[in-house]
Amino acid sequence: MLLTVLRSHLWSLPAIVGLGVLAALIDGVGLSLFMPLVDQVSPSSPTTQPMWAQYLFDLFDGLPAERRVAAIGLAIFVAIVLRAVITLVNSALQAWLNTRITHELRTRIHDRLLEMEMRHVERATAGSLLNVLTTETWRTSDALYLVAHLLISGSTVLVYATLLVLLSPGLTAIVAVALLVISLVVRRVTGHARSLGRHATKANSLLTERMTESIAGVVVIRAFDRQRAEAARFEEASQDVAGTFLRMSIIAGLVGPLSEVLSAGLLVGVVVYSLQDPSNLPVLVVFMLVLYRLQPRVQMFEVARTELNALGGAIEAVVDLLDDSTRPALPDGPLTAARPTEAITFVDVTFRYDTGMPPAIANASFSVPIGKTTAIVGPSGAGKSTLAKLLLRLVDPDDGEVLVDGVPLRDLRLASWRDQIGFVGQDTYLFNTSIRENIVYGRPDAPEEDVMDAVRLAHVDEFVADLPAGLETVVGDHGTRLSGGQRQRIALARAIIRKPEILVLDEATNALDSRSERLIQDALDRYGRNRTVVVIAHRFSTIEQADHVLVLDGGRITEHGSRDELLAAGGLFSELDDLQRLRETRPSTE
Ligand code: ADP
Repeated sequence: MLLTVLRSHLWSLPAIVGLGVLAALIDGVGLSLFMPLVDQVSPSSPTTQPMWAQYLFDLFDGLPAERRVAAIGLAIFVAIVLRAVITLVNSALQAWLNTRITHELRTRIHDRLLEMEMRHVERATAGSLLNVLTTETWRTSDALYLVAHLLISGSTVLVYATLLVLLSPGLTAIVAVALLVISLVVRRVTGHARSLGRHATKANSLLTERMTESIAGVVVIRAFDRQRAEAARFEEASQDVAGTFLRMSIIAGLVGPLSEVLSAGLLVGVVVYSLQDPSNLPVLVVFMLVLYRLQPRVQMFEVARTELNALGGAIEAVVDLLDDSTRPALPDGPLTAARPTEAITFVDVTFRYDTGMPPAIANASFSVPIGKTTAIVGPSGAGKSTLAKLLLRLVDPDDGEVLVDGVPLRDLRLASWRDQIGFVGQDTYLFNTSIRENIVYGRPDAPEEDVMDAVRLAHVDEFVADLPAGLETVVGDHGTRLSGGQRQRIALARAIIRKPEILVLDEATNALDSRSERLIQDALDRYGRNRTVVVIAHRFSTIEQADHVLVLDGGRITEHGSRDELLAAGGLFSELDDLQRLRETRPSTE
């Protein structure tokens, strides 16, 4: 996947490197022009010049002697301007590439998050996912930017080195050995960068996780007076990031001064050497100039290499999330789901959240009749929500099959199956937008009368009438500005507006105000007539209305049948029923 992103921009890499090399070549020509320039002032003996230099001398021979210096000066200036323009174009191209690749990586990872099987998203922490999406994508694209830099500095070094060889092979050999030693010394000092880089990715994830927790857990943190402990945890994570990045910067920063000091020694050596033979001055001046230019390029090369090493962790994190073989999406089926008419049937279904964990659903076989209300009951952790996920095909069973009117769910187009279903989750997630937008999220093209129908049916109109902006009221992050009962009614309207054949509802376990509870029950009764309702029931009143009850315990279906049949059997259901009755007949404060 990373390669796919890169491939579409592959053309720009040769362009960037080509422009870099062109800039170096023009610079080389400009620098070489110093030979005839110095020659005007301090004529050299033709025997000490390299053969090719004669062409440069000849270029200006046609001009009168008094204008020659000015002409050569002008030519040098033109070369400098040309190089500056090319460098400018090149950095714009690189900046474009960098932002483009960050954008593509970000959107592709986001796409992957939306399509990968839910288990993989649930398994990762929100912090680490956010970190990869935000920070690591730009660090990865920085790495690509550095690769371009590496190639540019590498080829520029090659251009300058060629020029040095052309000027004086002997001196170049000595300089090359010295530069090699310098590079080895620098590498030794900076060898630590790679492991630091990996740690930086981890530290960044943890920091993002702490941030999201402090924001999402705001009520718990304050209610339990844990601000100080949270502040300390945050401080620790932030300190770790600061420390790691400081160490990485110091190492990267060390490369510059270190190679500068070493190369300065080299330059002084060459100067001293060159002054031994003044007749050779034009060649040596240019040699010095090129060497002077070469040195920062070698340095850039080293800096880019060190930084690139430090970005290994970021690339690994990005590649890992982009890799669809480790986190596959649910495969889509070929058939379009028809409106179901008979039953949704689970045949010996087993599902595990993780290999090695006990199954959340074990060998479950039962039918949910179409057109009836089925209640799923059972103690907490029994697997009720998991059953709903299997029915929605948010996950696939590890063993067994879910069939709808005899057709395996796997064979249906996902979108066409989900089209048949309206879902109301237990912690109803609302988007931070208006109540209306949250409702039409269920069917973006719904006409106004359907919106009003859903609003009425789910009893949203009752509380909306009291809000100053009515349906246009913005609900706050996750709907924080509304009560639990109001949120669930909006979620119900969002499901109903789809006019689904099957309504799946995970009843809120936390007590809603009894008015909301009654209204939701009423909406279910009205909507559920002649339609299929699957409700994970926590309330006696809901179970009472159900045609069919499934009892889950420890991932297994222990009983199923009508409520009266189950009561008569005297199993877990009648126990739960007694408990529930006890709870609900306690005097209410309302
Ligand atoms: P219920 O809805 O009846 O309370 P669930 O279906 O939520 O039960 O959970 C069934 C079992 O699966 C529990 O043991 C629970 O800990 C486990 N479980 C639920 N969701 C996940 C998840 N995302 N990852 C791992 N285990 C999970």
